[in-house]
Amino acid sequence: MAMKIALVGIGKIARDQHIPAINASADWELAAAVSRSETVDGVENFQDIDALLAARPDIECVSLCLPPVPRFAYASAALRASRHVMLEKPPGATLAECQALEAQARAAGVSIYATWHSREAAQVDAAKAWLVGKRLRSLNITWKEDVRRWHPGQAWIWEPGGLGVFDPGINALSIVTKILPSPIHLTRAVLNFPENCETPIAADLEFFHPDEAELRAEFDFRQEGEQIWTIAIETDGGSLVLSEGGAKLSIDGAAQAEAGKKGNPLLGEYPRLYANMAALVRSRSIEMDLSPMVHVADAFLLGQRITVDPFQE
Ligand code: NAP
Repeated sequence: MAMKIALVGIGKIARDQHIPAINASADWELAAAVSRSETVDGVENFQDIDALLAARPDIECVSLCLPPVPRFAYASAALRASRHVMLEKPPGATLAECQALEAQARAAGVSIYATWHSREAAQVDAAKAWLVGKRLRSLNITWKEDVRRWHPGQAWIWEPGGLGVFDPGINALSIVTKILPSPIHLTRAVLNFPENCETPIAADLEFFHPDEAELRAEFDFRQEGEQIWTIAIETDGGSLVLSEGGAKLSIDGAAQAEAGKKGNPLLGEYPRLYANMAALVRSRSIEMDLSPMVHVADAFLLGQRITVDPFQE
């Protein structure tokens, strides 16, 4: 039987991805929505989470699609009411608040899932499998997109905790931390802050790798024309390029077919996230991998800050 779920924060990603993924899932029934200003057709709508939690004890899971800064209070309220919680990326505004949520979920005996949607892109698992047993020589992330096109009117992205260009950049880091067999850590960062913003519009990062491979990332929110979300890897056993955010894979220059594509009900990142959440709830498990966020926090700790031209939307 489908489990009842409420969606909180009815913005761009809720409408583009979460509502269609829940509606297409046999595991879930969208039973309510919480938004200060929006409503979702066909379900009960609330303006605050406490009202939802009090009125609908039948809803066992809450999926939070808010920006990171307000998310903790909503997640904590849901966990206090013994509901399972699914978090959009990044799972919070700080690492410590994410750890506090995990502890709260363990104490309440409910599931919490820090989702990383890019980890569910079509070719990420194939890239991970190909890398097993190979020695890494270099890894270059190029994540360049036009903020005006993908984040129109999202003032929160430029405010403290909004992450700026790390909002998409953390997606690349979520893939890299999934596919690399060895842990990495940041060694150098240069962050470009528009003079009117609290978060960076571009970042260059370098990482330590135990095989002394060169690892670099280039994030830029000012990209016009072609949009680039690519991870290029050289190893002792050949080269790999993941492109289009993990949807496409080529090995030694040859494009790879996507396995199991035809008729697969879990096609797409968000259907897979909701299937993962259903499995976590059924096994009362927790998945709270904060490693992509550790690298972003380290970039803010270690990064050289350069002031650049103001950003006007
Ligand atoms: P958005 O369109 O700005 O929507 C955010 C939603 O949260 C809206 O419903 C909004 O207002 C609510 N909200 C905003 N500030 C709030 C506050 N202070 N308190 C309570 N509610 C607040 O943002 P989005 O693009 O959907 O992104 C949300 C999250 O999804 C972010 O963490 C982002 O990284 C992630 N994400 C976004 C995308 C994308 O393509 N946009 C892709 C993947 C993941 P109302 O309550 O007024 O409705």
